[in-house]
Amino acid sequence: MYEREREDLVRKLESNGITDKAVLKALSEVERHLFVPEIMISHAYKDVALPIGYGQTISQPYTVAFMTQALRLKTGSKVLEIGTGSGYQAAILHRMGMRVYTIERNAEISLRTQKLFDKLGVRAVCRIGDGTIGWSEFAPYDGIIVTAGSPVVPLNLKKQLEVGGRLVIPVGDKKSQTLKIITKTGEESFETEEVPKFAFVPLIGREGWNEK
Ligand code: SAM
Repeated sequence: MYEREREDLVRKLESNGITDKAVLKALSEVERHLFVPEIMISHAYKDVALPIGYGQTISQPYTVAFMTQALRLKTGSKVLEIGTGSGYQAAILHRMGMRVYTIERNAEISLRTQKLFDKLGVRAVCRIGDGTIGWSEFAPYDGIIVTAGSPVVPLNLKKQLEVGGRLVIPVGDKKSQTLKIITKTGEESFETEEVPKFAFVPLIGREGWNEK
């Protein structure tokens, strides 16, 4: 269903500068309409973020594609996602052949998405909790993607990254963030690229924003 709409969306992403063929292929295959509330289905293939309940959103397809491309992961890489949300980003990574670990702080969102993963056969290891402290048990990760806006780069996430791996995280105030693409070049050394003008819901936690 909706193949035509997905193809149109992928062509739009390509014309907006997404070049990674594996990312584009995954976006043409994963059925975004299954990750949005029923009332939003007619908007599922528009290049916009949509509400998923609990004041949270499914990210804009361009943002998902851009962040996934920025990770520069090979098939079989181990990737940690902070902010499971609807599960769409995790499903894209799974479709690309990654080993996916994902943390969501809102238990109701996580449980709903875990049910959806079971139904759709998306293999992702899910945890309910504060992703700003990472998930040390399975570290190091070849890539870490944070899908909520943070005031700082959480130290634990830098620690839990493999040398050569990338951490992609929006950092800024609550209204707008710069996307930081941080490559770990050595145990204690990092190189950072910055891309301005992203807008995410806040990352709430020990190394993120306070709840209020
Ligand atoms: N990746 C999601 C998707 O594909 O739909 C989009 C995520 S939504 C923009 C951000 C999510 O991050 C929300 O579900 C929110 O509850 C979650 N979140 C916020 N702070 C968090 C934290 N410290 N740890 C884990 N999840 C967090």
